[in-house]
Amino acid sequence: MIVKLLGVPYDVHSSFLRGPAAAPQAVRDALICGSANWCTESGIDLGPLRDERWLDLGDLDVPDEGQSAVEAIRGGVAAAMAGGSRILSIGGDHMVTWPIMQAMSAIHDDLTVVHFDAHPDLYDELEGDRYSHACPFARIMEEGRAARLLQFGIRTMTPHQREQADRFDVEVHELRDWNGQIPELCGPVYISIDVDALDPAFAPGISHNEPGGMTTRQLLDSLRQIEEGNAEVVGADVVEINPSRDVNDQTAMVGAKLVRELLGMMIE
Ligand code: MN
Ligand code: MN
Repeated sequence: MIVKLLGVPYDVHSSFLRGPAAAPQAVRDALICGSANWCTESGIDLGPLRDERWLDLGDLDVPDEGQSAVEAIRGGVAAAMAGGSRILSIGGDHMVTWPIMQAMSAIHDDLTVVHFDAHPDLYDELEGDRYSHACPFARIMEEGRAARLLQFGIRTMTPHQREQADRFDVEVHELRDWNGQIPELCGPVYISIDVDALDPAFAPGISHNEPGGMTTRQLLDSLRQIEEGNAEVVGADVVEINPSRDVNDQTAMVGAKLVRELLGMMIE
């Protein structure tokens, strides 16, 4: 299976700080900076597989305005998926996941979405903005883009978002109660990783510091559980890295590590 890496440099609907539009380049720079090799933890050497099993399409050109941006991202991802390719995108703020899921759901009608985030991103609107990066999973569920949505890392639940989670039957695994297990999944799976799921100690280059988060190891072990289960990972994104807040490229390197591990999961 060919996996295509796609940058989505868009952060117009960030509610607090801009910056994630610069993440695709920062993560690419981290991937090729020479400090790490191209092997996944399971031992797949991605270097020689480049252009054969995976390739980098570069960045989408996304207009500022919300509806035009949704259309551009949906269209760009749909074109990249042609012929059965899997897509690994680097955001961008979390808004980008909504149009990506529009494209994914046109091909896969029974998608399970596994969402790692400090925030449930289920607001109906935030400060009047229905395109906000705090709303994508409300849009995705309203439009029926996912058959099942599971959330991990959550530690900022509000009464409104709890109502939304109930309304959409979201399986929210709040971090304070989580046992480290990912339930058994089957069928096509999409993985969306908002890097603020991690504790800011591990990934400081984000817009919304939310202490008490996952360790990088817990996130990697979660991915491994998905890989070793029966699910087929058909798409993934890594979003919300904000290079203007990063320290020593630490978060860009986390992004690069996640990209390598996700590529390894998706080319098999
Ligand atoms: Mn998010
Ligand atoms: Mn978040």
